[in-house]
Amino acid sequence: MNKETRATVIAGNWKMNKTPAETAALINDMKPLVGAADWCKVLLCVPYVDIAAAVEAAKGSNIEIGAENMHWEASGAYTGEISADMLKAVGVKYVIIGHSERRQYFAETDATVNLKVKAALAAGLTPIMCVGETLEQRDLGIMPEIIAMQTKCGLIGIDAEEMKKVIIAYEPVWAIGTGRTATADQADEVCGIIRNTLCGLYDCATAEAVTIQYGGSMNAKNAAELLSKKNVDGGLIGGASLKAPDFAAIVDAAK
Ligand code: PEP
Repeated sequence: MNKETRATVIAGNWKMNKTPAETAALINDMKPLVGAADWCKVLLCVPYVDIAAAVEAAKGSNIEIGAENMHWEASGAYTGEISADMLKAVGVKYVIIGHSERRQYFAETDATVNLKVKAALAAGLTPIMCVGETLEQRDLGIMPEIIAMQTKCGLIGIDAEEMKKVIIAYEPVWAIGTGRTATADQADEVCGIIRNTLCGLYDCATAEAVTIQYGGSMNAKNAAELLSKKNVDGGLIGGASLKAPDFAAIVDAAK
């Protein structure tokens, strides 16, 4: 399997933006712009309260809906949390796990990421597991070790068959929401490090089948070059997924 046969996935991450009414309006704007995209999967990961509106607005289109987080337990005394089964019940298919903002502001660790990846798979959701180094780690020269460690720790207990259902997003922390994008070669290099790590953890056929996205200030201008790289199988897009024409231009760039 290679880039031509792996699924390309263009995913929006709306973060803490949009009300349900704004969600419906934005998806209605996007539908005609991305409707012809049979060359990639198109999905939008939205805040919990927007999921119902998003699922309804996306009905009959190629846009699939994801969540931005979940808890690993199935139910119980976890005030404010949402389980994988709850997400599934409202039409969610994908869930972002371990986004650097969750690691940074909400004390998520590789251990909780691992618990969440396992729970998502058990519920039949596709986890989008985020890994990425800080600028300090890159400058110290330990980026490869950090990336390999986050990848390995997040995937403890996941077998090769399950691994084929996981998406990994390489998101350098220094590029998220900063307007500073990794170069296409940097993105390709690190997505390649992730793939080699998977090759060692599983086998190279499994590693070749996994979709590995790049995320970090991807936009209409830089998407084509990033997405042309052999190890970059799509994008996880924050800011540019909040404007229909910008998101549609990235979907077009994946052609
Ligand atoms: C993200 O939130 O995953 C992200 C990549 O954000 P941005 O595109 O805004 O950098």
